[in-house]
Amino acid sequence: MTIAVAQNLSPTLVLNADFRPLSYYPLSLWSWQDAIKAVFLDRVTILAEYDQTVRSPTFSMQLPSVVCLKSYVKPARHPAFTRFNVFLRDRFQCQYCHSPNDLTFDHVIPRSKGGLTTWENVVAACSPCNLKKGGLMPREAGMLPYQKPYQPTVHDLHNNGRLFPPNFLHESWLDYLYWDSELDPE
Ligand SMILES: [Zn+2]
Repeated sequence: MTIAVAQNLSPTLVLNADFRPLSYYPLSLWSWQDAIKAVFLDRVTILAEYDQTVRSPTFSMQLPSVVCLKSYVKPARHPAFTRFNVFLRDRFQCQYCHSPNDLTFDHVIPRSKGGLTTWENVVAACSPCNLKKGGLMPREAGMLPYQKPYQPTVHDLHNNGRLFPPNFLHESWLDYLYWDSELDPE
């Protein structure tokens, strides 16, 4: 089957059976190919579609833009430990000087001193600060992060995520993405 739609375009937002995204960070997106496969396997229901259509000689359908799972999957309690999520926790700011530029990561306890690559020991830092701190302990360098690094909850990342929306949000996704955020009492 030849399909004339570019790869990686038209991602499908995947909702759990309770109509919330299966995951927020990263946002649960499937390629349209995976989404269509799941439709045929009867694992998902299509809730919204793109205008684009895929065709083969025997078959034609609109690309799904939002699907929901037919069976509920228990969501992960904590967001994945990824570069993006560390930056999001730290609001895309160096934790030593607040610069938003040239961001990288700093191990608060340096790796050379046994520091681990974990939520509790990694912070966003600009390259100059990272270089300046080098292999020194925070007190030796006189550099303590503004915020003690911690493992964030999905809720923590939500709060920051509103300041940094993803690059691509199809209009059909918005009801589902902000549904529970808007009702949040906090
Ligand atoms: Zn800095």
